[in-house]
Amino acid sequence: MDHDDDLSMQPKVDVNCSEAVHVLYHFLDGELTPERRLLIEYHLDACHPCLEAFEFEVELRELIKHRCREQVPDDLRLRIKDLLASEASGPGTNDGGGTFPPA
Ligand SMILES: [Zn+2]
Repeated sequence: MDHDDDLSMQPKVDVNCSEAVHVLYHFLDGELTPERRLLIEYHLDACHPCLEAFEFEVELRELIKHRCREQVPDDLRLRIKDLLASEASGPGTNDGGGTFPPA
């Protein structure tokens, strides 16, 4: 028998790494469907490199947010607030994901 070792028995994740990283930005912007977000969250839970990339991006955004706070015009700040609000009103994702420092 000269069958080659086919490792196709690995658990299959619906989203692969490159796709996960690609949609991270959309994920952070709240532009994904709930189903899609769930897939990404599922992938991040199982894939540490992607999780690290995700957390880095989150930190970066937090940093930018604070840095800009004093220079951002009110209407833009409202838009960001709106964005955060729409993201917060999504399906239950309160697994300790985003911890915003008190204003
Ligand atoms: Zn990955």
